[in-house]
Amino acid sequence: MSSRLTKLAKSLSFQLGVWYVVIFTFSAVVLFIFFYLLLAATAENKDLELIQARLNECATVYGYGGVSGLQDLLNRSMKSDKAKSFFIRLASDRGSVLLLTAPEDWIHFDMSALQRGNASSLVWLRIPKDEEHDFVIASDQLANGVILQVGRSTNSRAALMEPFRRNFFTIIGPTLLLGVLGGIYLARRAMRPVDEIVATARTIIDTGNLSARVPASVNQSELEELARQFNRMLDKNQSLIKGMREALDNVAHDLRTPLTRLRGSAELAMQASVDPVARNALADCVEESERVLTMLTALMSITEAEAGVMHLNLEKTSLTDVLAKAIELYELVAEEKKITVTTDFQGPCEAVVDPIRMRQVFANLLDNALKYTPETGSLKISCAEEADRVVIRFQDSGMGIPIAEQPRIWERLYRGDKSRSQRGLGLGLSLVKAIVEAHYGKVAVQSELGRGSEFTIWLPKKTSDSLAG
Ligand code: ADP
Repeated sequence: MSSRLTKLAKSLSFQLGVWYVVIFTFSAVVLFIFFYLLLAATAENKDLELIQARLNECATVYGYGGVSGLQDLLNRSMKSDKAKSFFIRLASDRGSVLLLTAPEDWIHFDMSALQRGNASSLVWLRIPKDEEHDFVIASDQLANGVILQVGRSTNSRAALMEPFRRNFFTIIGPTLLLGVLGGIYLARRAMRPVDEIVATARTIIDTGNLSARVPASVNQSELEELARQFNRMLDKNQSLIKGMREALDNVAHDLRTPLTRLRGSAELAMQASVDPVARNALADCVEESERVLTMLTALMSITEAEAGVMHLNLEKTSLTDVLAKAIELYELVAEEKKITVTTDFQGPCEAVVDPIRMRQVFANLLDNALKYTPETGSLKISCAEEADRVVIRFQDSGMGIPIAEQPRIWERLYRGDKSRSQRGLGLGLSLVKAIVEAHYGKVAVQSELGRGSEFTIWLPKKTSDSLAG
């Protein structure tokens, strides 16, 4: 579970998603803060502008009509609610109050705070009234030294911003959720071509199916272009590999006749020769041509099986019988290497197969197991029936196959690094796979380096109609 989480955390789509969410959240918060400050400043400025306008008005009236002129203005404007909401105080430069008008809610206002406004230039005072309101006063000294103070009870910044703050927390939740979901969706969408390329590469590596391709897309993004170019590269590789295989098949086909003739001539010459040196040389010739002929025959059989044209003499066969015969053939080799061979056959394990081809399959797997298992090792062969198939296992205690080599052992002419010292052509397992698949079966390996290998074959009991026909 934790390894899956680590894998997820390391994946590019996860990292892209996380980056998207971080940037999205940061931008959303910055945007909210910006609007918060803008709104706060605008609301505050509106109040200050109103007070300033009233101060200017009072100052002008006082300039023309003195205290009585200002008193007149205030008496006249007492009918308007808006004008009634202003606090107005006129004080001499020595501090005696010349005129004072205050709305009801200013009753508890501490007048001593106004002393701070006794300055020669315009001064703003903000004095908290209660939790939601502030007293805001503009204080200015007029030409004759008189101090004019105009104030108003305004909503405090906290009260003004409270609905905004409340909504911020209700909106930011869904916004972030949207960001997270959007991030995951976008990251997955962006990475889809990469996932498809990985899946295609994995199919080709695991199954050897060279015709696997990344699904086509009409989009023109860079990653989709990468997928298109990847497909083009696969097309090229496939045609190159096909060309190489065809060349190999043609060479194998063309070499068989001259080689058979060469072996025949060498055999005849060997029989006629009396010179022991010449006889030995000719015997070597026969042996080597035999080896190459075996290789060519195996190569051609693989090609035939893979192309679906291998001729199979299908008949209901007891696979345990075929296995027993193959084991008999290798008894001597096992004895020589002191390898204990045990069998576990459950039932006759009958299936419709070509018995000769099956013996070839079993012989190759036995040969490998004995070849790659050191002396005093063990080999267990089991055969069991399942609902509609037979399962055969070859389990040895040999040298094992490195994980990196496991997909490659089925390739033609492939030989493991550590196996070069043993005799072999690198065609055994390719032939096994080709024959088993020609019978609509499956073969797989499980192996641990230094501990042994297990080859498993699954064969359908009845081959499909097309095969039987
Ligand atoms: P070879 O002629 O080399 O045996 P095969 O096609 O039969 O060719 O096998 C391919 C490679 O698979 C071998 O070279 C060897 O590295 C590996 N191999 C096959 N069978 C076994 C086994 N039972 N134990 C360990 N390695 C094996």
